[in-house]
Amino acid sequence: MIFHSINPATGRQVKRYTAHSTAQTGKRITRAQQCWLQWRETALADRAQLLVKLALVLEQRKEEMAILMAVEMGKPLKDGRAEIDKCASVCRYYAEHGTSFLADQAVATAAASSYVSFQPIGLVLAIMPWNFPFWQVFRFLAPALMAGNCGLLKHASNVPGCALAIESLVAEAGFPAGVFQTLLLGSGAMNDVIAHPLVKAVTLTGSTEAGRKVAEKAGSLLKKTVLELGGSDPYLVLADADLGEAAAACASSRLINNGQSCIAAKRFIVAASVEKDFTALFCAEMSRRTTGDPFDPETDLGPMARADLRNELHEQVLQNIRAGARCLTGGTVPQKQGNHAFYQPTVLSGVKKGMPAFSEEIFGPVASIIRARDTRHAVELANGSIFGLGAAVFTRNAALAESLARNQLQAGSCFVNDLVRSDPRLPFGGINQSGYGRELGEFGIHEFVNIKTVYIS
Ligand code: NDP
Repeated sequence: MIFHSINPATGRQVKRYTAHSTAQTGKRITRAQQCWLQWRETALADRAQLLVKLALVLEQRKEEMAILMAVEMGKPLKDGRAEIDKCASVCRYYAEHGTSFLADQAVATAAASSYVSFQPIGLVLAIMPWNFPFWQVFRFLAPALMAGNCGLLKHASNVPGCALAIESLVAEAGFPAGVFQTLLLGSGAMNDVIAHPLVKAVTLTGSTEAGRKVAEKAGSLLKKTVLELGGSDPYLVLADADLGEAAAACASSRLINNGQSCIAAKRFIVAASVEKDFTALFCAEMSRRTTGDPFDPETDLGPMARADLRNELHEQVLQNIRAGARCLTGGTVPQKQGNHAFYQPTVLSGVKKGMPAFSEEIFGPVASIIRARDTRHAVELANGSIFGLGAAVFTRNAALAESLARNQLQAGSCFVNDLVRSDPRLPFGGINQSGYGRELGEFGIHEFVNIKTVYIS
C-alpha cells in the first residue's frame, strides 16, 4: 500500500510513502513493549523534563511543521504555527502538573494504609484525523508519556509526512527509542493492531462511523477506548444578545480550520425577533475572510483537506437547498484552475429539523441558521441532535446563560458569550454520538492508567 501526500490547493502529489509491512508493524509493536518495560520505571521528574524538551523542539521546528501541514492538508501557515505553539503548551502543561495528577491519593479506611495509585498500562494505540494533524496527536501524546505509557500512532492516510515528523520530534527531544512510533498503515489494518495482545487501549478522534467500528473491535476484546467523534455544535443567539459580538464569534467558530473542526459551531439557533439583524451581521462576517493559498500571509482560509471531502460537502449543501434551505452566500465550487479543494464560506438559512444540515455533521465552511420561537424552543432545537460535543449561548442575561450552560444544554462543553475551544487545563470530549471519555486536564491523564487500589492492613 502506498500513501500519497497530495497538496489540496493544487491537486498535485507531493510525496509517496510505502506502508509498513506486517513484519515491520510487528517489530514496531515489540520495540514499543521493550521500551515500555523501562519507561514505566522512569521517575516522573525525568518524564517531565523530556516533555519540556519536546516543547522546545516543537518551537525550534515550528516553521517546518507549519509548512508540512500547509502542503499535506491546506492549513494556512499562520494557523499551522499557532497549532505547533499549542502542542508545545500541552507538553509544558503535563510537565508542570503531571506529577501532582499522578500522585498517590490516600483514602481513609480500616487499613493501616490505603490509597489509590495511578499506574501506566502499556501501549496505547492512537487513531488520529487530518484536521489538526499535530494537535490531535499531542493532546493524547503528552499525558500518555507523562503517565508512563508508550504510544503507537495510526494517522490519517493523507498526512503521512506529519505522522513521521511527530515521531522524529519525539526522538529529537531525547525520549527513548520506541516510546512513540508511527505505524504507516491503512484503516483496514487496524483490527489486527487492536487485537495485538501488547496493545492495551485505543483512542480515536474522527468520524462517528470510524469510532463505532474501532469501539466494536476493541470492545469485543475488552480493551478500553476513548472516542472523540463528530459534532453539530449549536450556538444559541438569544433576543438580548450583543449581535455584533455574537456574529463575530459565531463566524470565527464556524470557520476554524476552514470549518473542518469537530468543535466548530455548526447550527446557529437564533431567536426569531433578531434573526434578520443577526443574519446580516453574520453573513458579512462569513464573507470578509480571504480564501486562498495557505502560503500567502493574507490568507485566512485555505482549501479543504481533500477534494473528495469538498465534493461531499457541496453535495450536502445542494441536498439542503433541495429540502428548502436558502443559500445566502457561497454555495458554489470555484471553477478557477488550481482551486482544487476550495470552497467558499457558505450560509444556509431556513434550516429546519429533518434537513441534513440539522441532523448531520457539516464538516466544512457551511453555516446553518435555524429560527427559534423562544429560549425554550432554542434549547429544544439545540438538544435535538444525535451529537453532544460543544454548545454556546449568547445573551446579556448572565444568570440565564449560566443556567442554560450548566443544566440545560446537552454537551461535553458549554460556553457563554464565547466560542468553544479546547484548552490543556480543561477536560475535552463529548456525549451521545460525539463519543465518550475525556482528553486534557486532570481527567485526560487518568483515562489510560490503572487506577489501582493499594490496601495494607
Ligand atoms: P475518518 O473518521 O474516516 O478518519 C479519522 C481516522 O480514523 C483516520 O486515521 C482514518 O484512517 C481512521 N479510520 C477510518 N475508518 C476506520 C476504521 N474502520 N478502523 C480504524 N480506523 C479508521 O475521517 P475522514 O477523513 O474520512 O473524514 C470524514 C468525516 O469524519 C468528516 O467529514 C467529519 O465528519 C469526520 N471527522 C471528524 C473529525 C473530528 O475531529 N472529530 C476529524 C476528521 C474527520 P484513514 O485516513 O486511513 O481512513
